[in-house]
Amino acid sequence: MQLKNCSECGRIFAYINVNLCPSCLQAEEEEFQKVKEYLYKNPQTGVYDLAEATQVAEHKILRWLKMGRLEGKKFAALAYPCESCGRNIQEGRFCLSCSNKLAQGFLKATTPEKEDDDKRSKPKFHTR
Ligand SMILES: [Zn+2]
Ligand SMILES: [Zn+2]
Repeated sequence: MQLKNCSECGRIFAYINVNLCPSCLQAEEEEFQKVKEYLYKNPQTGVYDLAEATQVAEHKILRWLKMGRLEGKKFAALAYPCESCGRNIQEGRFCLSCSNKLAQGFLKATTPEKEDDDKRSKPKFHTR
């Protein structure tokens, strides 16, 4: 058995697969249901308004979206920015093109441009 601090209230609890103690987990579950219910009744609600209307923290709603727990794809207004380029997306953490680039390793630090050989001044030696 693994003991962890709850990421919400800091209490120590027996870790299973979430970083929340049973009571916070239950509270979050209720929040999740509330958000989901509100969303189905008001499918045009964006993340910000949803957080405001349900009194649930925006970061939690975003987390559920990124986890795929909330089906963002069904609700166009729930779009949130890609973590890399800021384009609006409705599932996962990155837009399609960024996740492709990530998969190919292109999104790491950009490689510095090669020095242009022609512009480099060559030292001249005067031979006697
Ligand atoms: Zn807790
Ligand atoms: Zn992107």
